[in-house]
Amino acid sequence: MTEAEPGTYVFLLKLDKQERITVGKLGTFDFPAGYYLYVGSALGPGGLQARLTRHRRNTALRSNSGKKLHWHIDYLLQRAQLIEVWSVASKERLECKWSEVARKLPGVQIPVQGFGSSDCHCPAHLIYFSARPDRKQFEQALQACSALSHQPSATQLSGGIP
Ligand SMILES: [Zn+2]
Repeated sequence: MTEAEPGTYVFLLKLDKQERITVGKLGTFDFPAGYYLYVGSALGPGGLQARLTRHRRNTALRSNSGKKLHWHIDYLLQRAQLIEVWSVASKERLECKWSEVARKLPGVQIPVQGFGSSDCHCPAHLIYFSARPDRKQFEQALQACSALSHQPSATQLSGGIP
């Protein structure tokens, strides 16, 4: 992946204990301890790299309460630990399809309706698991989704934190 390529990403996040978090105008919610997948895309200038750098910086500055938070995920990143980033470079907006696939994984719950999906019709782009979800499992679910068969690059996820 080159620096400024657009793409879609998944954050694997972990909360060690239940946290009460205010997510901007969406409201205040109790987030149970466990694992979260958040699906987003970065199709604007700077692409994936710029977005991921921004989120990482946000995480590093979690104690800086004066910082302006923009996305719902920013609020969760203040408390949760970012364990892995799965991403793929593509100009196509895949985040809704990927969210749909992720919501079909076993053991999924939707902790907050509308989280990350203010601009679309998805129930949420954030899903919760009590046990750690597996990248391979998600990859296989993407492959099994016929709507994505024209998009082979979507299944070639790169893992780790860039
Ligand atoms: Zn969506």
